[in-house]
Amino acid sequence: MSVNLLDFDANALAGFCVEIGEKPFRARQLLRWIHRSGEADFAGMSDLAKGLRDKLSATAVIEPPQVISDHAAADGTRKWLLSVGAGNGIETVFIPETSRGTLCVSSQVGCALACTFCSTGRQGFNRNLTVAEIIGQLWWANKALAGTSNGEPIVELEGIPDGQKGVYPPNHPNIQNRSRAVTNVVMMGMGEPLANFENVVTALDLMLDDNAYGLSRRRVTVSTSGLVPAMDRLRERCPVALAVSLHAPNDVLRDELVPINKKYPIKELLAACQRYLQSAPRDFITFEYVMLDGVNDSLGHAHELVQLVRDTPCKFNLIPFNPFPNSGYRRSSPEAVRRFRDVLMEAGLVTTVRKTRGDDIAAACGQLAGKVHDKTRRTSRGIVEVAR
Ligand code: SAH
Ligand code: SF4
Repeated sequence: MSVNLLDFDANALAGFCVEIGEKPFRARQLLRWIHRSGEADFAGMSDLAKGLRDKLSATAVIEPPQVISDHAAADGTRKWLLSVGAGNGIETVFIPETSRGTLCVSSQVGCALACTFCSTGRQGFNRNLTVAEIIGQLWWANKALAGTSNGEPIVELEGIPDGQKGVYPPNHPNIQNRSRAVTNVVMMGMGEPLANFENVVTALDLMLDDNAYGLSRRRVTVSTSGLVPAMDRLRERCPVALAVSLHAPNDVLRDELVPINKKYPIKELLAACQRYLQSAPRDFITFEYVMLDGVNDSLGHAHELVQLVRDTPCKFNLIPFNPFPNSGYRRSSPEAVRRFRDVLMEAGLVTTVRKTRGDDIAAACGQLAGKVHDKTRRTSRGIVEVAR
């Protein structure tokens, strides 16, 4: 059976090259073709010998998840529904901004952590995504967005001697500095990334690899609901920027909203944040805080929060709740959000209010897979099923 090369990071690809009787350095060439150029066909890898291309075609494939649908919102946000087999779908969202383009990547089909305000959490857990399915989201987005206003294909041929400029075809991996649509990745789509640790870390390695996507650690963010031991492992293995979903200023309320808090309460979570900061590429943790009307949005909660994080270097991102059917919650009023933010800001905490993007295509936080696509139906557990 063919192996899917999208499952391999640089080391695994080197191992594969040795297995098929090639020199390990071929891995670098392959990595560039696959991830830099978005080439899925070995026949198009023009600087590989014909014999090698044939050998690759016989033993391997480059297979991202299949795209089922593609939606563009009025504000430029794009959402793709990707099939991950057995009738399951996952969603990937691209959010263009003036100076960057952020891709929101999913890590699991469903999620076991059952946060009460989260549509993915309400679906229950189905399975972890493979490396190919995680990195395939970035692979696909860069390809789909190439040539759009947010992803001008090639801007310069840096490092290539003058005489040789222009000899490479547009998608040749020797072309450096191709400006890509996706400049930032946030692991904030469906699922808890740290509950799918190995596959997520391998995908992160590829995001950071100069021969693949070459993103800096500061531009790749893992968001977690607070799996403390896995936060420590991430710090050791692959310290990227970290966002922590706090959502409550005390254990009583957090136990209710984010059930994993019963296992790893706030004190342990904040201690893990302090440890993480020792290796983090940024000198603060981003705390996410969903604003739920009448639940966690009072001025009292804001003051309690200020006290709670007084020893933790952090920024706050307030997320107005994105509703979904039968959620049982309402979004806090803009006035409540503003007053809450003012309390944090007055205490010296940098606080942003997340703009709700793409809500006309149900692409906002916590809405992913919240709505069943025309061609989809729900299983008894609510996982999106793609009709065949
Ligand atoms: N599982 C990870 C990452 C995915 S969720 C985590 O929980 O951090 C990304 C962010 O969206 C989290 O902060 C999450 O709490 C938030 N979120 C979930 N449902 C939401 C909703 N309905 N409205 C607004 N934000 C939501
Ligand atoms: Fe899972 Fe994150 Fe949703 Fe909680 S908020 S259920 S951890 S995806």
